[in-house]
Amino acid sequence: MDGLQREATARLAEVDAAVARVAEGRYGICESCGGRIASGRLEVRPTATFCVTCASRPVRR
Ligand SMILES: [Zn+2]
Repeated sequence: MDGLQREATARLAEVDAAVARVAEGRYGICESCGGRIASGRLEVRPTATFCVTCASRPVRR
């Protein structure tokens, strides 16, 4: 698989996940803090799963 195919596959997976969140009524809800993701951010990145605050915070597990 070349880089372009890999990127297309990853993007498809993101869109699939976004569609699943719409079906579950969780679209636009941050997966980290449960807050609403700003609509401006969703316009830029419709598949965003974190709000701006959580996305800009270093990931901690
Ligand atoms: Zn958040």
